Parts: sequence; C-alpha cells; structure tokens
Amino acid sequence: MTKLESIIIANRNFVRPDAFPPLPKSPKKQLAIFTCMDTRLVDFLEPAMGLKRGEAKVIKNAGNIIIDPMGGGVIRSLVAGIFMLGVEEVYVIGHRDCGMAELDADALKEDMIARGISPDVIDIHVPDLKQWLGIFSHPVENVERVVKILRHNPLIPKDVPIHGLLFCPNDGHLDVVVNGYTQENFAEQLL
Ligand SMILES: [Zn+2]
Repeated sequence: MTKLESIIIANRNFVRPDAFPPLPKSPKKQLAIFTCMDTRLVDFLEPAMGLKRGEAKVIKNAGNIIIDPMGGGVIRSLVAGIFMLGVEEVYVIGHRDCGMAELDADALKEDMIARGISPDVIDIHVPDLKQWLGIFSHPVENVERVVKILRHNPLIPKDVPIHGLLFCPNDGHLDVVVNGYTQENFAEQLL
C-alpha cells in the first residue's frame, strides 16, 4: 500500500458527518504561533500550550527562520492574521535539538547534486546556500533574532506583543526567551 492510499483509508475512517462542530476562521485565543516544522512538534506543541483546534494560527517552516525581514510567507501570514483574522499576540517558538542548527550546507549541496540538481542551478539561484537556508548556531539565538525582526517590521503594529519561547520536543517544557509584554530577555540563561 502506498502512503497516499493509507492516508485516504485513514481519512475514510476519520470522517463522520456532524462529528465536528463548525469553527470560526479567527483564532478563539487571538494568537499566532510561528514555529518549526519538526515532526516531534506535531500534535504536541499545541496541547503543551493548552491550545485546541480553532484557538490559534500556526505558521511553520524549517527552523522557524525568517530570511527576508520585510517580506516572505511568514510576514505575509502574520500581517494577514493580525489585520484580517483577529490575531493580537505572536509567539515565536524555537525548540531544543533543532535540525536547522546542525545543517551542513556543503553536505546538503553534495546531496542535491547527487540527486540530479545541477551545480550551476544551485550556484545561480542560491549562491550562498548557508545564508539561504538560514542555518543558525543555537535555537535561542534564532528566536531572539526572529523576535527582533518582527518587532522592527513596520507592517506589524506596535501594540501586538511578540513573544519568544523555547520548546523541548522530548518533555514538552516551554521556556520564555523574550517576554513580549515587557521586552525582558532571558536568552543568556538558556544558552
Ligand atoms: Zn526545528
């Protein structure tokens, strides 16, 4: 059985008419989370924050990284959430043991070439692969940096607190890196 077939079968068993009450598009708890795509966070981060379906907007990418401080999908999603969907606070949540902190850009380039991606294409489109990937040395530093980028983004209103947190994908513990209400910074204690 392919993965697609098993997903469709699971879905047929999942769907039950009238089992799921309709929910509004706007998050009930008026918050947006920007976090990593790490598989260990799936169905784990939200319950660890006391959040249920319908209560928060969740934006994800590899390493909860922002490359372009003014544009890109993350800023666009947050601006849409704030102005159109009732988001009042933003939570940037990195996690311990993040794969993006260990990525070797040279090894990745070799793997891409081995899988048939032309070295010329890589050199033309992503001449600085490390910068393009946004590889960071520590998830706490990345959370601090992303909070700063969002705080200084002129499209995000100043009355929207931008918090930074660090999550443990093993035991579910959350630490505050930056308190968005007071701007208090606890990064040094977490490095
Ligand atoms: Zn990660």
